[in-house]
Amino acid sequence: MSATATVVPSTNGKPHDSFTMYDSSPTFQMARRQLHSVGEVLNVDEGILDRLSVPKRAMVVSVPVRMDNGEIEVFSGYRVQHSLTSGPSKGGLRYHPDVDLGEVAALAMWMSWKCGIMNLPFGGAKGGISCDPSQLSFGEKERLTRRFTEEVLAIIGPRQDVMAPDMGTDEQTMAWIYDTYSMKVGYACPEIVTGKPVELGGCIGRREATGRGVTYCILEAMKVLDYQPEESTAVVQGFGNVGSVACQELAQRGVKIIAIGDRFGAIRNDRGINIPALLAHVAKGKLLHEFPEAEPIDSSELLTIPCTVLLPAALERVIHGGNANKLRCRILAEGANGPTTVEADEILQRSDIFIIPDVLCNAGGVTVSYFEWVQDIQQLMWSEDMVNQKLSELMLRAFHRVLDLARQRRLTMRTAALSLGVLKVAREKERRGLYP
Ligand code: GLU
Repeated sequence: MSATATVVPSTNGKPHDSFTMYDSSPTFQMARRQLHSVGEVLNVDEGILDRLSVPKRAMVVSVPVRMDNGEIEVFSGYRVQHSLTSGPSKGGLRYHPDVDLGEVAALAMWMSWKCGIMNLPFGGAKGGISCDPSQLSFGEKERLTRRFTEEVLAIIGPRQDVMAPDMGTDEQTMAWIYDTYSMKVGYACPEIVTGKPVELGGCIGRREATGRGVTYCILEAMKVLDYQPEESTAVVQGFGNVGSVACQELAQRGVKIIAIGDRFGAIRNDRGINIPALLAHVAKGKLLHEFPEAEPIDSSELLTIPCTVLLPAALERVIHGGNANKLRCRILAEGANGPTTVEADEILQRSDIFIIPDVLCNAGGVTVSYFEWVQDIQQLMWSEDMVNQKLSELMLRAFHRVLDLARQRRLTMRTAALSLGVLKVAREKERRGLYP
């Protein structure tokens, strides 16, 4: 454990001493504190909450890769399975320099709550490799991915643990995992991963699913609060898979996107950024902040711009104790996982900002992953209309279950969402009992 880490008490008040390997991560501490706080409002056995406050299992692997210059580099890889109670564990694989065991464990825990809220037959998992994918060639990425797959082979499988894209990984990454796994087992096994290319059994609309799900939640929140999309504005942090799709979907419905940022910079145009033109600009390999039809602004200003909807769609913990009281949005739609710290949450509770918490807001991705897994197992492909219609139906149902619980029990949207997720897993654990 690092010298700065504080041990968060377990849900029954006793400090755990057996999982300090996760605790040095502020992201894991945040996930544990969230669970601890919903534990206080739920009528769940403390032993079960204790079991849920740590991952079921974690695997740390060294991944040696021959680089293009002939030298060997060794990367650290992780796969954490938080829960296997409801079915196979499910969650993305992230390639980012900051990936560590604690962050992956926190993301795995959030996946469990996400699957619970959406009522999917999965537990939560997450994986990652500490690397900078922008510095790796295509061949290096392929060798890294295939060797990682080989290293975690013992704990993955279509009924055990199913990976999907996350930050820094994409359809191609999933195609390599699919191929490596299939070569090992001796038959084509598309249901080993989701988010594959469509021609390999991927689901139409999976790539857009997270951004679409975010949009459905935002439009529903606008209805509840009586805002018209055509009179609303949005500020988006992140222009990757989630941010860029949400920008397109929102703009198509008349929402004016007035500012967007990515890790290199940010832009603003109060008359509304032309999203198709920005997409074409970025597709040419140009930087977002060099887009000529908007003003470049300092990235630090982005989150505090007055707007109807603020959509963080990048990294964790960007809204914290230091900036939470400067937010000037009416709706905070958490497209990223864990963008709001526990301290920020306490500050936001005293404001009139309507929060669509991450575990609900970005659950569209894993929902369409579930559709993909089902289609691969049944070898029966759905149409895009069916995917989008089912996605919208499940997102809206979950949104209203969370909102109703929040209103009935006077909880925040986050506590209500986490409660639904935690309760689903806890009840299943209770009914199954403890083995042996
Ligand atoms: N990585 C995505 C997430 O954080 C998707 C996971 C999946 O589809 O399994 O929700």
